[in-house]
Parts: sequence; structure tokens; C-alpha cells
Amino acid sequence: MHKKFAIFGDPVEHSLSPLIHNCAFIELGFNAHYYKIHLKDGSKLKETFLNEKLSGANITVPHKEAAYAASDHLDPFAKKVGAVNTLVLKDGELYGYNTDAPGFLRSIAKFENIESILILGAGGTTKATSVILKEEGYSVSILNRSAKRLESFIEQGFECATFESFTPKQYDLIVNMTSAGLKDDSLPAPKEILEPLLKNAKAAVDIIYGKETPFLKLAKSYNLPISDGEDMLIAQAVLAFDYFTDHQYNLEEIDSIMSSVLKE
Ligand code: NDP
Repeated sequence: MHKKFAIFGDPVEHSLSPLIHNCAFIELGFNAHYYKIHLKDGSKLKETFLNEKLSGANITVPHKEAAYAASDHLDPFAKKVGAVNTLVLKDGELYGYNTDAPGFLRSIAKFENIESILILGAGGTTKATSVILKEEGYSVSILNRSAKRLESFIEQGFECATFESFTPKQYDLIVNMTSAGLKDDSLPAPKEILEPLLKNAKAAVDIIYGKETPFLKLAKSYNLPISDGEDMLIAQAVLAFDYFTDHQYNLEEIDSIMSSVLKE
């Protein structure tokens, strides 16, 4: 039976997920296709998923919390982080997973001597990755534009600040986990805050992929080792593909197909 998969987001035009998933379906002989769905209203996620007769989906900005709410079953990690980026339909019910955090861990493994991490942004991806980073032994701090989204992180014991309350200190790794720079040319925080942070950091990561963001450009001007969102994109996609195809392929094989597509 031919299966359909999709990525939900707003915006979604920039997404490379259809390209890498479709290539892997073709290369591995899995009878399916994968397309983009521009969804403005997150509360319509489940209805749209079922109307489109999808077998599975990925969820990107700003609907990961809506995907969490739409899930009938949550895997323990998705439950812990409160955000879902992968949905799979089984026996008429939606199973929610989160593959962002394992992807992120892999993408920073190449940097040496990283102990402290400052994450810019307090959205779904920060929720997912901060917990796993803390469990891995990193000291994690969070800086966000507004206070509202910091509340749950404060409850979990993370050091948190807004631009107004931030007291600068040295962090080994600075990570842009906001969507600033995705559809505009803005920095994730005021330049006066970012410049000293980058000057004293050992590396910088922007998880936005497919373009050089203003944040990454600024990090490069300080000659920092950097990573963009491609490594993380591939790693989370490999794990999502593994769920979509019910674990029937080798992860390294999926990884090698997806990596070669993006490098072409
Ligand atoms: P959310 O919508 O859940 O959160 C967005 C966050 O960005 C909020 O903290 C928000 O702050 C902040 N923000 C948005 N615009 C600005 C701005 N102009 N200046 C400062 N802060 C801003 O997003 P996600 O966590 O789901 O995703 C964040 C980014 O990560 C997206 O760009 C997404 O494309 C990318 N991503 C990449 C992946 C990959 O595989 N490479 C995987 C997952 C995500 P506030 O609370 O003040 O509104």
C-alpha cells in the first residue's frame, strides 16, 4: 500500500525534509511520498493529518506543542520535554515522538571542551534539548526575548534571563534556538549582548538550516568553530524515518542517503 507523509509548519516552504525523506523512500524502495503542509492554526493539526490520510508526519515551527497535545500516545522522552516533532498513525491512533534532542547532541559532539551552554530561545526545541543536555552533564542557561516562555524552565531549575535581566558571563557554546533569521534578517538577541558572548565562547551553533543567518555570520566574524542546522536536521530525520518505516532499515544506511542528498 502506498503511504503518505508530510511536514506541518508555518512557514514550511524552506523545509528540506520532503527532499531527504523522498530520496530515502526511493533509494530504499519504500512505497511512499512526503510533502509540505502549510498549517497556520495548530488546533487543526489532527483534523488535517486525518483528512489527508497520512501515515506519519514531522512537525516544525510553531506547532510542536500542538502536536504534543494532538498525540494519543507519547513516548517517554516526548512526554518529558512537552514537544513532539514526529507523529505516526498506528491502528487509528497518533503516537508522538521527539527526535530533535538526539539530533542536536550529535551535531555538537565535534566541539571540544564544552561544559557550559547558553541557549538563545525558549521554544519547543529548547524544551526538548535542554533536558537531555542537562542529563548529559552540561551546565545549561537560557536567554529569551520575553519572560513568558521561561517560566517552565525556571521551574525545572535552569538559569534563565530575558534581555533586560541578563548578566553577561562566559559560556563555552552559544546556540541560536530561536527562529530569528529564519524568515527575516534579525539577530536572536541585541548585538550588544551577543558580541561579548561570542568573543569569549569556544563555538557557536545555529540550528536554522539552508541559509547563513545573521547570527552565524556574526559568530564567523569571531573565527569561532560553527555548526549550522544541517547535522541536526539529518540526525532527527533519520530517527523520524526509522519510526515512519517501523524500524525496518539500518540507521547508518538512512543517514548516508540523507547526507549525500544534502551535500549534492
Ligand atoms: P518555537 O516557535 O517553539 O520558539 C521560538 C523561539 O524563538 C521563542 O523562544 C521566541 O521567543 C524566539 N524568537 C522568535 N523570533 C525571535 C526574534 N526575532 N528575536 C528573538 N527571539 C525570537 O520554535 P522551535 O523551538 O520549534 O524552533 C526554533 C528554530 O529551530 C526554528 O528556526 C526552526 O526552524 C529551527 N529548528 C531546526 C531543526 C533542525 O533540524 N536543524 C530542528 C528543529 C527546529 P519569544 O518567547 O520571545 O516569542
